Amino acid sequence: MLTFFNEHHGQHRGRYEIFRGELTPCFEKPERADLVVAELGRRGLGQIVTPHGVPLVSLERIHTPRYLHFLRSAWSDWLALDPANAGKDAFPSVWPIRGMRADIEPENFTARMGLYSMDSGTPLTAGTWIAAKTGADCAVNAAHALRLGERGTFALTRPPGHHAGADFFGGYCFLNNAALAAQHLLDDGARRVGILDIDYHHGNGTQSIFYARNDVLCASIHADPRAEYPFYLGHADETGEGAGAGYNMNVPLPKGASQAQWFAALETACIKLASYGPDALVVSLGVDTFAGDPLSHFALQSADFLRIGERIAHLGLPTVFVLEGGYAVAEIGINVVNVLEGFETAA
Ligand SMILES: [Zn+2]
Repeated sequence: MLTFFNEHHGQHRGRYEIFRGELTPCFEKPERADLVVAELGRRGLGQIVTPHGVPLVSLERIHTPRYLHFLRSAWSDWLALDPANAGKDAFPSVWPIRGMRADIEPENFTARMGLYSMDSGTPLTAGTWIAAKTGADCAVNAAHALRLGERGTFALTRPPGHHAGADFFGGYCFLNNAALAAQHLLDDGARRVGILDIDYHHGNGTQSIFYARNDVLCASIHADPRAEYPFYLGHADETGEGAGAGYNMNVPLPKGASQAQWFAALETACIKLASYGPDALVVSLGVDTFAGDPLSHFALQSADFLRIGERIAHLGLPTVFVLEGGYAVAEIGINVVNVLEGFETAA
């Protein structure tokens, strides 16, 4: 397993997030990636390298130029409001809800934050752009390495990506690393790419990016959005539209779903992916399905993550793994590396 590690991930370090009416320490914190890379090294699961920088046009394959421009300049715009802002994270506080206009970009910074975001739980910090951009580099490099003959690669990065859409951030995500990897595989010559999202939360950004396309099939297993974030997308009746009709599969499970229910959903998703006949696979690897996760309500144990990797390996596809969520920090390294080791040993 060749791993591309985002050495700049720690520059995205939120001071706090707004959770249940209070400012609380961020669940999505640098220790997450540091513990995964330490566990990878401890188990000797292949080479760990840093990525080459990819040009912005690679990001524009998925994200709008207007949004990318906003992200790149957001921190300096925030400081321009007041130099004292250097000591605070930036948050949106107003959004263009139904009936309001999203086509005109306001001059006001807070209004632009709202235009390009979906929640108030995602702090934007001084190092957010460099961390997110280097994460995108990891994802594109990991995809490219498949073409060079690797069977499995891993983009080890944070902030995560699967909630980020073509022109918005949220859910701790800024650039959609899984979507960038899938697009790069297509640009490298793949005819069809499958995406399997096994994070506890629905990958709304990934779904929305590919919803009208038939060259990427998205399959996601997640907590029912009636009860869990991102709330407004991820239902079973969302199966794609236009040319993409039939190329999106959501398998929502009730809060508190058992291990057996989860693995039955994995089987459903894998059968759908196999029937699609993709040339390559991208896995949005969230481990917040772990029973001990502080934000989530599924029941997987650490040993289950080995089985997940084995099942994915049985698809027989060149595979890019991209790190998404997982907030039980003490176990995140073991759980993530278990998936990768299960994949490697079942090869
Ligand atoms: Zn998640």
